[in-house]
Amino acid sequence: MRTDVLVVGSGLAGATSARILAERGKKVLVVEKLKHIAGHCHDQKNEHNITIHTYGPHIFHTNNKKVWDFVSRFSRFHPYQHKVLSYVEGRLVPFPINRDTIVEIFGKKVATYEVEEFLRKEVEKSRYNDPPKNFRDVIVSQVGEKLYELFFKNYTIKQWKRDPEELSPKVAKRIPVRFTRDDRYFSDKYQGIPKEGYTKMVERILDHPNISILLGVDYFDIKDEIKAKITVYTGELDRFFEYMYGKLEYRSLELRFETYHTEYYQPVAVVNYPNDYDWTRITEFKHFLNEKSPVTTICFEYPKAEGEPYYIVMTEDNLKKRELYMREVAKLEKTGEFVFIGRLAEYKYYNMDQVIGSAIEKIQKVV
Ligand code: UDP
Repeated sequence: MRTDVLVVGSGLAGATSARILAERGKKVLVVEKLKHIAGHCHDQKNEHNITIHTYGPHIFHTNNKKVWDFVSRFSRFHPYQHKVLSYVEGRLVPFPINRDTIVEIFGKKVATYEVEEFLRKEVEKSRYNDPPKNFRDVIVSQVGEKLYELFFKNYTIKQWKRDPEELSPKVAKRIPVRFTRDDRYFSDKYQGIPKEGYTKMVERILDHPNISILLGVDYFDIKDEIKAKITVYTGELDRFFEYMYGKLEYRSLELRFETYHTEYYQPVAVVNYPNDYDWTRITEFKHFLNEKSPVTTICFEYPKAEGEPYYIVMTEDNLKKRELYMREVAKLEKTGEFVFIGRLAEYKYYNMDQVIGSAIEKIQKVV
């Protein structure tokens, strides 16, 4: 079988690439291993009419106008601003750390103009590498050891099964520290949840006369039968190269969904559990689109090593291996016949908007 372009994977990386190429007149075949489109941002309404994120919570946020314009062509967005609480010392407190978190934890009045100075004193009492070398250093150098131990240390051990000192500083930089009372998780200019869900949005991205889709087909089973001028690969980086430099590590999640006969389970969409229980967080889905129902569906996340790869693991070892693989990627991309895009194929801890941004940039270079 022949096609101009073969796209491996129908998540955000694959769908965005397929669309751009289709609009440039290329015939695109998308092969998807799963039985549905949209990869790990897949969502669906459950029997209670609540929109569930099949693979855990996805909140869209970006400062990239190009990306926002792209997604806005395919979906309207419910103007949701993500709020998270953390269950610490038996109560729910705002997270990321802001002025109100500090007041709650230290039990003293600290005005917003005093927060910076307060944290400086906490940091002064603490031990860390300066400049920061790892996850722990980044956090401790901003908030001190006490807040690090309460909010970050055990969550990070649960999530990554690693000592935070083995993890890249970049993981910690995902989380802001605020001197104000702004309790949003993200401060990006554009934020929201697709009104009819991520699956519908991806369906519309893929809805083009030049795009065909094969579901439930593993690229590695059919790659020799399809002749494509360009292959856009969005699967695991190490698998593509038959693990020639060894296996890269991924983290997966066990998701336990429960429906309770109560209107709300928790006051916000996500509550983190750094120190208690085996789950890292609980998501209550109806908050995302402000869906009304007499019942509520929630989801517990239990991190694990085996299973579908959701996260890359940013340790020195993995990142070194990544470099070796990326040299092979560069060679292939130079031929103009291959492009590697997305969290798994670039082995990068991308957010959704960064995946789309990478697809827009890389595909534009190809055409
Ligand atoms: N993190 C933490 N405590 C929290 C939330 C996050 O220590 O309450 C750390 C943890 O290492 C986590 C990382 O920050 O893996 C990134 O958090 P984020 O919420 O971005 O994770 P994701 O939504 O990608 O799972």
